[in-house]
Amino acid sequence: MKIHEYQARDLFFKYGIPVPNHVLCHTVKEVEQAMDKIDHLVVVKAQVLVGGRGKAGGVKLAKNKAEAVQAAKQILGMDIKGCTVEKIIIADAADIAKEYYVGLINDRNSKSVTLMVSAEGGVEIEEVAKTNPELIHKFHINPQTGLLDFQARNMAMKLFKDVKLARKAADIFQKLYRIFLDTDSTLAEINPMVLTPDNEILAIDGKMNFDDNALYRQPELLAIREVDEDEQKEIDAKEKGLSYIKLDGNIGCMVNGAGLAMATMDMIKLYGGNPANFLDIGGSSNPQKVVDAMNILLSDKNVEAVMINIFGGITRCDDVARGLITALETIKTEIPIVVRLSGTNAAEGLALIKQTGLPTVSTMSEAAQKAIELSKR
Ligand code: GDP
Ligand code: MN
Repeated sequence: MKIHEYQARDLFFKYGIPVPNHVLCHTVKEVEQAMDKIDHLVVVKAQVLVGGRGKAGGVKLAKNKAEAVQAAKQILGMDIKGCTVEKIIIADAADIAKEYYVGLINDRNSKSVTLMVSAEGGVEIEEVAKTNPELIHKFHINPQTGLLDFQARNMAMKLFKDVKLARKAADIFQKLYRIFLDTDSTLAEINPMVLTPDNEILAIDGKMNFDDNALYRQPELLAIREVDEDEQKEIDAKEKGLSYIKLDGNIGCMVNGAGLAMATMDMIKLYGGNPANFLDIGGSSNPQKVVDAMNILLSDKNVEAVMINIFGGITRCDDVARGLITALETIKTEIPIVVRLSGTNAAEGLALIKQTGLPTVSTMSEAAQKAIELSKR
């Protein structure tokens, strides 16, 4: 789960991280009202669940009400990487002497939360990570001790020679770590964290991701959750007893069992294809699940071929075949489908599928190759 910048700012504020004031607005009228009470430089910022807003023109400074209204008119309704801007914030603008990057991630290699800081913060941080990774300093936090004062200060000294400034930054790192733990976060970024000419350190952008599997114990996050189209599909799938994760490829996969679903994606990759999704229909033999699974899978516009890979155990292949036939009667798709059935009642299942004229194969590697071939037609 992701949250908007303004929600991250609210979290920062709650934990005592210095952050400029902001007002959330949905309409130009609300901007006008907000600006009646403000007579200093502000920054008008698009609130969308994607990054790179600055480069897309979604962040604009405004000296007065007229400029703020003009910026709001430009930004509201704007499209940023496929997201329509429906809300903006008017934030007190920071006077920036220098921009820094601060981030916390779950680092799988070190099996720890890792603090990353850089003096090269701002909109080019991805580029820095690629071309000058040594400019990003990392510290693996021991989960038993947490981020100790001296460790936070050591990291802060990589950004600030002045001890007073380093102390302020270290305090921000520790507070961000507290938020990270308290919210079951998987990513917490302040980019940029800025130094002002009068030596204040402020967070002026915030990005937070949270572990979906921990949301059950995060009622405050669930209450503010906004889901995008892909996430909604994943949630709908879960309600129907399916595990679905959308990916970027063009070969739709329908598989029973998580392990086989992973192996199926690997197999597609091995033959040079790209899976469009992970989809585990689980261990039951309920034909309705196949109908639901096909509907979800084919709602992805990128899918150009479907590979159905079933290993019958408790799931009986003839039931899957019946579900598939029912599904295709209602869906009527032009997308080519290849079916591999193996295990319990495979022969019965394959006989049923053959009647529909769909291509059937007996091994997983044949299925992957056939699906890739069909996707290219
Ligand atoms: P992002 O592009 O989505 O990461 O949006 P940010 O909030 O990080 O803003 C992008 C850039 O706009 C920052 O790196 C700053 O250079 C600039 N910016 C954002 N807020 C302010 C502000 O309050 N004052 C000034 N002077 N520049 C700002
Ligand atoms: Mn940013």
